[in-house]
Amino acid sequence: LTNMKGHGAVVPCRTCRLVGCLCAANSTYYYPITTPDGWDGQPYLRAIRQGGPDYDVSNLPYRDHESHGAHIRLIESASNAQDVMQGLGINGDSILRNLSSLRFPQSTPFGMAHLVCLNVVPRLIEHAIGEFTAVPNDGEPYAVPRETWKDLCTQLEASSATVPASYGKQFKNISQHKGDMVSEDWLNFLLYAALPMFATIYTSKESRPCLKLWVLLVEAIQDSIQYSIKRSTIGLIRKNIQKFV
Ligand SMILES: [Zn+2]
Repeated sequence: LTNMKGHGAVVPCRTCRLVGCLCAANSTYYYPITTPDGWDGQPYLRAIRQGGPDYDVSNLPYRDHESHGAHIRLIESASNAQDVMQGLGINGDSILRNLSSLRFPQSTPFGMAHLVCLNVVPRLIEHAIGEFTAVPNDGEPYAVPRETWKDLCTQLEASSATVPASYGKQFKNISQHKGDMVSEDWLNFLLYAALPMFATIYTSKESRPCLKLWVLLVEAIQDSIQYSIKRSTIGLIRKNIQKFV
């Protein structure tokens, strides 16, 4: 409806203009805060990457209602419209812009649970258990032995029988049914199981900081999904997310 390119695009975000780097191993774009050495992406896109090759997480190149309008005018007047659309992450104008009560992008916020649970959490797990094949985890402090993970997932699933229903859906065995996990399953895992599980795994001096990362993520998501959020909590969420990335 917003007529923006969306996830998977070179410039995928409707809130900011983060420019992605192409991961040659699997031909997808990813969006590092610090670009890897020698990254040369597409020269045209690198040139428009605002703020240089590295991003300041407390000051991303945000979009606002006025700049969004200006970008649409740019696309409409460009002779190389496809390039401009790609560089801005916008396909064109949206019919919703006729409604004066709507502002881009503030009127179309993200659902934090879906944003994080369908992407960040499964990818972190894959990195930990060595299933993210493009980046091997040998010797990394966050690496979790497959057998340990399998064992903990079996225990987690079995624990469902003793968990009150008010805590939400039953836990699935992630090591067996990762493909069947919907956002709510990942959310339940993140809110209620991730910290005790990783506290069991990350016990050495080297791996402890990995547990702290999970704590930051859990706290940020827990705060973000409340029905009413105080302004001071928004500051806290921002801080936790900035520390996390
Ligand atoms: Zn963004």
